[in-house]
Amino acid sequence: MLTDYHLHLRRDDSDATAARHFTAENVERYLDAAAAASIEELGVSEHVYRFGEALEVWDHPFWVESAVDDLGAYCEFVRTTPLRLGLEVDFIPGREDRIANLIDAHRLDYVVGSVHFVGAASVDWDEYDVWRGERDPDTIWRRYFELVAESARSGLYDILAHPDLVKYWGHNRPQPERDVRFHYEPAIEAIAESGIAVEVSTAGWRKPVDELYPSDAFAHMCIDAGAAFALSSDAHVPEDVGHQYDRAVETMRGWGVEEICVFEDRRRRKEPLG
Ligand SMILES: [Zn+2]
Ligand SMILES: [Zn+2]
Repeated sequence: MLTDYHLHLRRDDSDATAARHFTAENVERYLDAAAAASIEELGVSEHVYRFGEALEVWDHPFWVESAVDDLGAYCEFVRTTPLRLGLEVDFIPGREDRIANLIDAHRLDYVVGSVHFVGAASVDWDEYDVWRGERDPDTIWRRYFELVAESARSGLYDILAHPDLVKYWGHNRPQPERDVRFHYEPAIEAIAESGIAVEVSTAGWRKPVDELYPSDAFAHMCIDAGAAFALSSDAHVPEDVGHQYDRAVETMRGWGVEEICVFEDRRRRKEPLG
């Protein structure tokens, strides 16, 4: 079994409207790409901040400018397609109740939890670059993985997205001095306690860091902790569906992973990988 659950039907720019991308024709392109890559389970997980309902959770200026679509209409549209229905929902500390209300108002197949922001600053987008204010890499990495731990423990999510996204810029940003495993530790503990599925995302190979999410060291710690894995590409265009999956499956087998998680109606089962 191969899956691709962390997908977006459009790019992140504001020109990529719902009207133009939430269409049967566009979904057909994703389904064709998945079939060509032998991916049996395909689902979309649009960013929560593209929807007006997200402003009940957070009022970051980027969210305010992005929240133009209707979450109910998105859910209804996806249910007219063969795609599984997911949502990528940022973890905002202190807003757990509001996030839960938003998620519970819709019948989703799975929820992908992400940490893109440390405070109001972004780890993967230069407009609100976290590296502009705080220069100490060990502080940024520590805070990032504490948030990942909190997000896992919140119980809000089925899948922990791109778990070491803080490395996004690679050597274009300062690197921590401490052993990265020290920074991973709180997240691994929370993953073990919560049982959340850890996303293996090939998107890392399309970003400046040019490395799979998560790193080998993170993955080995997850395996030692008994974690389960989910496989996705985080594609924003059909051409990236199943991006570099051969390489990802080989890497996962090298870690000793033999099963991946499959989701429906927020229930999880495991299937043999590949
Ligand atoms: Zn993301
Ligand atoms: Zn995404």
